This record gives sequence, structure tokens and C-alpha cells, in this order.
Amino acid sequence: MRDQTPISDLADVGPKTAAYFRELGLTTADDLLEYLPFRYEDQRYPTPASRLGEAEGEENAVGRILSVKERRVRDLEIVEARVQDESGTFVAKWIGRRRFVIGRFSAGMRISVRGRVEKTLAEPVVNVSSYGILSDGEEYRGEVVPIYHASKDLSTRKIAQVVRKNLPRLLALAGEDPVPPALAKRQHLPPLVEAYRSAHAPATPEEAERARARFIYAEFLTLAASARQKREVRVRERGALALAVPPGLLEEFAAAMPFAMTGAQRRSIVEIWDDMASDVPMNRLLQGDVGSGKTLVAAAAIVLAARNGVQSALMAPTEILAAQHAAKLAPLLLPLGIALEAVFGSQGARARRHAVDRIGSGEAALAVGTHALLTEGVDFARLGLVIIDEQHRFGVAQRARLRSKGGTPHTLHMTATPIPRTLAQSVYADLDASTIDELPPGRTPIETYSLRASRMRSVEEFVRRNVALGHQVYVVAPAIDENDGELTSALEEAERLKRDAFPDLRVDVLHGKMAPREKDDVMGRFAAGEIDVLVATTVVEVGVDVPNASVMVVLDAHRYGLAQLHQLRGRVGRGAAKSYCLLIAPDDAGERERLEILTSVSDGFVIAEEDLRLRGPGQFSGTAQSGIDEFRFADLIRDIDVYRTAKADADALIASDPNLERPEHAGLRAALEAGPSVRAMLASS
Ligand code: ADP
Ligand code: MG
Repeated sequence: MRDQTPISDLADVGPKTAAYFRELGLTTADDLLEYLPFRYEDQRYPTPASRLGEAEGEENAVGRILSVKERRVRDLEIVEARVQDESGTFVAKWIGRRRFVIGRFSAGMRISVRGRVEKTLAEPVVNVSSYGILSDGEEYRGEVVPIYHASKDLSTRKIAQVVRKNLPRLLALAGEDPVPPALAKRQHLPPLVEAYRSAHAPATPEEAERARARFIYAEFLTLAASARQKREVRVRERGALALAVPPGLLEEFAAAMPFAMTGAQRRSIVEIWDDMASDVPMNRLLQGDVGSGKTLVAAAAIVLAARNGVQSALMAPTEILAAQHAAKLAPLLLPLGIALEAVFGSQGARARRHAVDRIGSGEAALAVGTHALLTEGVDFARLGLVIIDEQHRFGVAQRARLRSKGGTPHTLHMTATPIPRTLAQSVYADLDASTIDELPPGRTPIETYSLRASRMRSVEEFVRRNVALGHQVYVVAPAIDENDGELTSALEEAERLKRDAFPDLRVDVLHGKMAPREKDDVMGRFAAGEIDVLVATTVVEVGVDVPNASVMVVLDAHRYGLAQLHQLRGRVGRGAAKSYCLLIAPDDAGERERLEILTSVSDGFVIAEEDLRLRGPGQFSGTAQSGIDEFRFADLIRDIDVYRTAKADADALIASDPNLERPEHAGLRAALEAGPSVRAMLASS
């Protein structure tokens, strides 16, 4: 149980400070305990005057003032003090409006200062950011200063002050340690309470570093143990139907398809069928770039299920996507004698009853829908396979409910978000993965340009020409409305385009704050060709297939990761028409080089790797969906070695104590029960 002491109960936190904490997402004392500094400043030792300016960043110096010069330039105060220590002299310089430093210093005083050092021909100059006055005989006592993520209302200094003032009380809130003592000892990691203390108030930078290492290790250990435990249960309990793969089925299936399968499709099918032939329930991810042909692979899984007399359920995040799946699957499955039914929340009562009846009786071998498939009233005769498209859009509970509808079906997750190979192994801790890394032949790449915002006029001209040819256009903006600061907003841009650029075109807008029904309505009208220019936020990222859309314009493209831009680009190029992607960034964005990569590379996996390399996993886009960035402290790339160690430890631990019944594993068990991170669940569902 998490402690619910409100943060306002803490010493030095008044209503105002509590409100500022709330803006940072901290509402309880517990939140503050877990709000660890992201770096530290080692202010323990002053740098001797003779060595000032050798280090990057701010430095400390301590000495006795020799002389002081003060002046005012307009409304600026400038104070320069020459200071001497044992090694030499330096100048401490204050510049500011009303800093009240004038008159404060005099020769003979001892001071400590901190600031960036400028080297000059004469003496080094410390541009003071903070200082202290030392009384005679007082020893300079520097600290390792924790730096917290702050806001403009709440400084890191204030946060540190509150933490320091309340530290014993905060430490008392630390829960059970998920890292068993034996492992902590082997990894040379401090116990939990010690780690919290060291993170918030370290005596040395090394101590802070060990604390951080401990949180990273604990995070990985918990994730890996959770995934491992789920896998063990899955393998131990078996319980799925082992399906028979009749000889020749692959060739029969291939012959029934309207085109030759790619090698990658064929390989993925074999892997999936292999899983389905076992009574250990399949838990496999099928990943492939947009347009790589996942539908056909899904069809093959459905065919195998149907041949074995069990039903399949396919769920998509939205009704439109579900309808699209149904429309794409029907022509592949009907020739093989496999009937499907679609179930939608918005369906008329009669159509729905009909569909539900045929699913219940087993006449429909495939049910396609959204989470409406989960609502009562949809019962399967014999559910054997669940396919989840873009799984991240489903809640964990929803998935559990679907599974409860049919014993233990085999599960196939499909995603078009390419996860770099370097990460896949750890991201999908308990998912086996099949990758379609080959596009069907004959695709013309989407012509991609990186353009300056000052060229917007010609972009509009280009859009107009394409609309005149009968095509449709997406314009993607990073923000919804003007409240979002300097970012281009979809609502404003739509207004502007309607008013100035395209008064004669049908312009409409789509964003994440619209009600699902409104969104479906706009997408439906766009799909039907009733909208020429759709101004949208990234809600269109995983969107419908509108083959007639041939131009994707992304405004403020520098704000996105490459992988996400690639995803957006995948909205076009789905029909016969030549398609274009125009990436617009402010003239001074300075990110054009990064964007240039997209103009020459079209392989989603290559782009994902590049994105990862350039921005790191914290920034790696699409991660909110894939779950890579759901770690609080760890960073999969930076800490990949720690991950491997923790994974090996977790595997051994679960092998020796599968249900975590030993007393020394109580903390880990509690951590898993308290809710392993969303990510762990995703990885092991
Ligand atoms: P995804 O779901 O992976 O984005 P789809 O399954 O919708 O991709 O396939 C994209 C398009 O490619 C569809 O029009 C489909 O008919 C076509 N397609 C799929 N596989 C092949 C193939 N092997 N050869 C030619 N076209 C294919
Ligand atoms: Mg698809």
C-alpha cells in the first residue's frame, strides 16, 4: 500500500508550495521520496585559484577578499572582488539587476563563491551564481548538492530544502526492498532505505552513484522477474489447444492468396503456426512496417485455427480500424471458406444480434471488432486465437477479459511501431517476436522533403495541385490549441488554412481531445473523400487506410522523433498515386540534418535504430506505445549490461522459487503484486 500522506503535511510546505509540487506531479510525501535528483554538483572542495577554469561547468572557490570594485551601468549592478587563496588570486564577479550585492563585500572578508569560470589573460573570473560569507575561523564545508528537475515556480534549491528538512519522515515511508539481500550484496548495492538517503543526501558522488545503480537494478529485476514468472506460468499451465498443421497447408494457403508471399511473410507464418501447434499458449508479436503485409500473416493464423475447428477474435483500437481489418481480411478468407463477423458498439441492434449469434454458434470462424468484443453478450463457441492490433491501445484488464472468454487462446500481437533490434529482446521480455522486414515488391517509396517554414507558400501551392488532381492531404501539427505555446496548433492552422490558403477547399480538423464519435465521424468523412485537407494532431499516426491520400505535411517536424515521422509518413503511399511527405521545420530549427535521414531512408527499422542512436531511448519516439520509456531510472541503452545481469538474476531466482515464497523474496513479491510497471505487464501479457 502506498502511503497517502499529502505533501502539504510536510514541514516547509505551505499551500502555495504544495500547489507547485502538484504541478510537478507530486501530491504525496511518497511521491517526493521517489522524486530523485537527476544529477549532483560536487561542491565539497573549492578549486584552487591557480586551477580555476580547467573544469567544465560551475566551480567553487574560497578565499579572502583583497579589494572590491563596484559600479552601476544603467540599471545593472556590477561588483568585482579580487580574492586570494593559498595558490593565487581570482576575481569574483556579480552582475545583475538589483542583486543587492553593492555594499556587501569589503577587503578582508572570507567568501565562498560558485559559478562558471572565464579565463582571462590576467586572473580567472568566477561569474558568481551563488556565494556564502564565512566568518573568521569558519571552515568551508561544501556538500554534494542534489539537483532536482524543477519548474519555474519551484526551484531545485527549494525542493532540496524540503527533502532535507523532512528526510527521516520520508525515509520511514520506504516500502519493502524488492532486491533480496543476497543479490544486493553480490551487486554491491545498498539496501533500499540507505539508497533513498544516499540519493537525496549523499555524502559523496560515489554514494549517489551507488544509490542510482541500485534503483536501476531494482527496476530491471522487478521487470524481468515479473516477465519470467508469467512465462513460467504460461509454460507450466499449458492449457492452450495444440493445433494440427496439416501437410501442404502452407502451399494451399499461398495458392489462395492474390499475390506471391514475401519471404518474410512466409517465415512469420511458419513461426506462428509452430507456436500454435503447441499447448503452451502462443504469446507472439508480429512486427512489420506499415504496408509490410501483416494482414496476410494474420489471415494465415486464422486459417490454421479454423482448420482445427476453433474461432479467432481480432481486435483493433478503433471501429474504423476494425472495419478496415474486416474489409481486408474478408477477400483473403472467404475463398478458403472462412466466414467472419464484425461487432461494433455503434452497430444497429439487429445487425449486432445477427453477428453475435453467428459467433456464439460457431458459424463465424472470425470475429472482428474493438473492445466491444469484450462486452457481455459476445460469447464464442470455441475461441482459440486472439489477435490484437496495436496492443498498446488496449488496457491490460481488457486483454485479461478477452482471454477469459475462451480458456487460454493463443495470442498474436501486431504492431507497426518498429522496435530497434538492439532493444527488442529486452522490451518484449516475454513475447516472442516475428519480424516482417521486407516490403512487398513494386512499392514506390514516398518522396520525402525536408523544408523550411518560410517555404510554406509553395507547400500550400503543392497541396492545392494535388487536391486538384483529386487527392487528399494530411497536415499534422504538434499541438491542439494555442495554449501550447510556440508550437503550431492544429485548430489555429485549420482556421488559417481555411481562411487564407484554401477558402475553396474542404478543410477539417481531427485531434485527440475530440470525443471518439466525433473522431470516427471526421475520419469516416475523410475516408469517404468528403474532406480535402485534414489538419490533425498525431492521432492520425495509427490511422485508417485512405489510399486516396497522397500528401503528408508535418509542421514543426523537428519536434518529432524519426520513428514517429516515419509512422506519420506511412499514412500516405497506400494507394496507386505517387505520394509525398513534406517535413516542415522553422528556418532556424537546426535539426535539418536529422530530418534529412528520412528523405533517403524508407526502412522503418533502420530509421528506428538511427532515432535511437541520435536521441536515446528516453526520447525514442513511439516508446510511449512500445513501453521502452516506462522505466523511471533505467535507460535500456545506457544500462543494457545491468539489464542483462538483472535478467539472469531474475531467471535464476524464479527458477529456484517460482512463487516467491521464501521470506527473502517477500519484498520482490510485494513489488510484483503492487503492480509491476505497466511495461512489465505489457511485456508479459
Ligand atoms: P500492414 O497491415 O502490415 O500495414 P497490409 O497487410 O495492409 O500491411 O498490406 C499492405 C498492402 O500490401 C495491401 O494492399 C496488401 O494487399 C498488399 N500486400 C501484402 N502482401 C503482399 C505481397 N506479398 N505482395 C504484394 N502485395 C502484398
Ligand atoms: Mg495493417
